[in-house]
Amino acid sequence: MEFTFFSFFLIYDIVVYGFKYFEKEILMTLEKQLESSLKKQIKNATDRELYDAIVSIVKEKQDQVKKITGEKKLYYISAEFLIGKQLGKNLINLGLYDELAKLLSKNGKSIRTVESFEKEPSLGNGGLGRLAACFLDSIATLNLQGDGVGLNYHLGLFRQEFKDRKQHEIPDEWLNGSTVLRDTNVSFPVELAGKTYYSHMYDLDIIGYKTNKNTLHLFDLDTVDESIVHDGTKFDKKNIDKNLTLFLYPDDSDKDGQLLRIYQQYFMVSNAAQLIIKEEKEKGHNLNDLDKYVSIQINDTHPSMVIPELIRLLINEGITFRRAADIVANTCAYTNHTILAEALEKWPLDYLQEVVPQLVPIIGGLDYAANIAFKGDKELTIIDDNHRVHMARMDMHFSSSINGVAALHTEILKHQELKPFYNIYHSKFNNKTNGITFRRWIMHCNPELANYIDTLIGDAWRKDAGKLEDLLKYINDTAVLQKLDDIKYTNKVRLADMIKKEEGIEINPSSIFDIQVKRLHEYKRQQMNALWAIYKYLQIKAGQKPARPITVIFGAKAAPAYIMAKNIIHLIICLQDLIKNDPEVSPYLKVVMLQNYNVTKAETVIPACDISEQISLASKEASGTGNMKFMLNGAITLGTNDGANVEIGELVGKDNIYTFGCSSDEVIKLYETSGYHAADYYNNSRLIHACVDFITSPELVKLGNKQMLSDLRDNLINKDWFMTLLDLEEYCRVKDRVLADYEDRLAWKKKSLVNIAKSGFFSSDRTILDYNRDIWHLK
Ligand SMILES: *Cc1c(COP(=O)(O)O)cnc(C)c1O
Repeated sequence: MEFTFFSFFLIYDIVVYGFKYFEKEILMTLEKQLESSLKKQIKNATDRELYDAIVSIVKEKQDQVKKITGEKKLYYISAEFLIGKQLGKNLINLGLYDELAKLLSKNGKSIRTVESFEKEPSLGNGGLGRLAACFLDSIATLNLQGDGVGLNYHLGLFRQEFKDRKQHEIPDEWLNGSTVLRDTNVSFPVELAGKTYYSHMYDLDIIGYKTNKNTLHLFDLDTVDESIVHDGTKFDKKNIDKNLTLFLYPDDSDKDGQLLRIYQQYFMVSNAAQLIIKEEKEKGHNLNDLDKYVSIQINDTHPSMVIPELIRLLINEGITFRRAADIVANTCAYTNHTILAEALEKWPLDYLQEVVPQLVPIIGGLDYAANIAFKGDKELTIIDDNHRVHMARMDMHFSSSINGVAALHTEILKHQELKPFYNIYHSKFNNKTNGITFRRWIMHCNPELANYIDTLIGDAWRKDAGKLEDLLKYINDTAVLQKLDDIKYTNKVRLADMIKKEEGIEINPSSIFDIQVKRLHEYKRQQMNALWAIYKYLQIKAGQKPARPITVIFGAKAAPAYIMAKNIIHLIICLQDLIKNDPEVSPYLKVVMLQNYNVTKAETVIPACDISEQISLASKEASGTGNMKFMLNGAITLGTNDGANVEIGELVGKDNIYTFGCSSDEVIKLYETSGYHAADYYNNSRLIHACVDFITSPELVKLGNKQMLSDLRDNLINKDWFMTLLDLEEYCRVKDRVLADYEDRLAWKKKSLVNIAKSGFFSSDRTILDYNRDIWHLK
């Protein structure tokens, strides 16, 4: 670099004034910087010009933030990072959001409008990916050294559009014009089916809240080519050079799809393992001490091949197989996210032999070791009699920690799903109840509430969420309760505006907002909520009108190959349109199905909610994190005793939550004894009979596809694997009580305050402190 007097003074200033110099510079010149970048006054700039200028200023500030250092480093490997838009979050974490918002509003501009120009990165699917994003935020905020590692999916999961009242999948071209990734010249050779590919690493800064930064590393391949995609999201699954990082979770209903998943997973973990070894060598560490300097968190089984891959690379470095397996086991930790059998990955050994033959001897060796140690116990082997490799079993044998994601879930793992492993590895099992970052899920999505809380209890809760409990002293302060309710109303108006604009449906902000937004799955039981809407519709048609209008809001993507999930979406949209166009019903009831539910939509939806629907079949929802976001924003939970709902209930007390339905023990028993018969419920309850039959009523069939609707109805009567009808009657009864209780406005506002006050436990800062104390031991 050329030396100039300017750089001399800059260096002098940094040395003499240290960080203060930058702080002052940031504060003094935000307005000037913006105007000099715009080359015009703020008030004369378009929103788009403002967005571009702010992005470039924030990038500059980001570059000035120091990297977090430490003795030990965490690598959080995950197939998904559902990170949401970055601009607002970065402004908050840099401590600039409020100042900029004021500056813009002084000039007649809105920061929300400016933020709307960013496209949301499409690197995740649901709760698991969102958890990874919240964790990265908290790790950096706690000044812990920890990077994320994943893949750079060019077209994301998919964008959801509704046509003919059905879900259609469209490539999500989020990378077009995106500025969030930083190119690097880091590349690693990766051997796939005998051919060497060279990866390309892109980085994304993860700035902590008023601290320093870590990195999310996203690996990619230069030859990937979006133009091979046609007819929605179809493409040649065999063309690995062009398809490797096109989509997250490409269709795996055939062999080529499953092979592609293996290609992706190995590409991800081989890059991760090579990155780790490169960084360790650069630091001069001895690879024999890897576990002293590195922790690897395996987020579900998608990254499990990092275990054999790292062992393979250590062997290449001259370490023995036995020693390498020990080192890797001490370095790795595994998080289980589900007890759904179909989600526990088992890859045919043949497929691995085809894609990653270099791993097969390693996996064989690990399986051999497990067989020797446990005398060939069939429940414990990595490779089963059908030559399938159980990824979770490999994780459990060769890692130092196995954790579930909520107290109930961890108990079910220990005593049911993973019992044989709990029996041999008692002390590896531990619970880490999920959390959410309060920076995004209140400070960014509900600044009115966050700022009002500051005026009541100060702002220490922003760094120490447990302090929200101080709000309890206002439990009898009607002015405070009213102000909280006013904020809720403002958020409901904002959501109503969004729904009008994006779905063309008029909703009443004074109605009760009853909301279920999450991935569509039969275990989450959106179909039960839809049957409730039918129940209410039939009541209103019979002249029984609710005390106050109700708006039921859904948002959900279905996996493209999941037929029943798509049938449920179809039913909900048909109900939406039937009710919308029925003047007898629509003043009292509305159903809305939001298109393309994602983090951005969640941030408008969640602050506006009155009733948070968390109605999964007990034992099936490992934790949930949506439930926590709603609680933090003052919604009351209507839920089953499942996942983290149980812990929410314990915190707020039974007067501040509504629970119903069979317990997880009862449900597990029903599965064991095949004791559930949906047809009995259908035949023995007039209410259930009428609601289920309405799915194929002439009114709905006129709007919808007869085959899809009758398949759904048949499934509910003859299969109903996730036991919708088991809990339907009680659900209707309890939900009517919730609606009646809403009318005691004062009592409801108190419930809302208690929920906000008790939500501090669900800060992901707490979760990360738990992981670090028990598993990672970073300093
Ligand atoms: C939080 C979140 C989820 C997870 O919701 P659950 O109700 O826990 O399943 C899924 N999608 C998005 C966009 C989220 O923000």
